[in-house]
Amino acid sequence: MPKGMIGQAWNYQGTMDDLRALKLGEYTRENCPKTPLVSLKMQSENGTEIEVSIYTNYWCDGPYGPDQPMTLCGFSLYAYRGGEQKANKSVDAADEIDLVLPDLVEEAAAACQHKGSRELKMPECRDRRIYHAGNCFHVLECPTCGEVYSYDSSG
Ligand SMILES: [Zn+2]
Repeated sequence: MPKGMIGQAWNYQGTMDDLRALKLGEYTRENCPKTPLVSLKMQSENGTEIEVSIYTNYWCDGPYGPDQPMTLCGFSLYAYRGGEQKANKSVDAADEIDLVLPDLVEEAAAACQHKGSRELKMPECRDRRIYHAGNCFHVLECPTCGEVYSYDSSG
């Protein structure tokens, strides 16, 4: 993949058909089409509900402006269970999505549930060099898998 900024943008709530109809390739910021954000409700083999969001990846180079080159270069799939992101995958083309979806859903269903996580207070985060955004920001550590994750309880 060429050097540049990777991101997702210009989303509208769309369907898999919108996504398949999207032409990947090179554009400028001015003529780049809006990209569909697709949300799917899936179920793993053991019946766990998994929500999958699919975004279009792009990269762009050079200074911001209407002529800035932008390339739509594939899709990122994020799988959520109970609102928590549990797995993700990227593909280069829309027709690969159906191939990776089953594994993605199973991976998300099998992921650690982070039961019994302990909240890390600000001084501990400071000592361990873990980002902490202050009041209303919570940093937790899972005793099972060791993952450190955070959420914002404000608003
Ligand atoms: Zn865990």
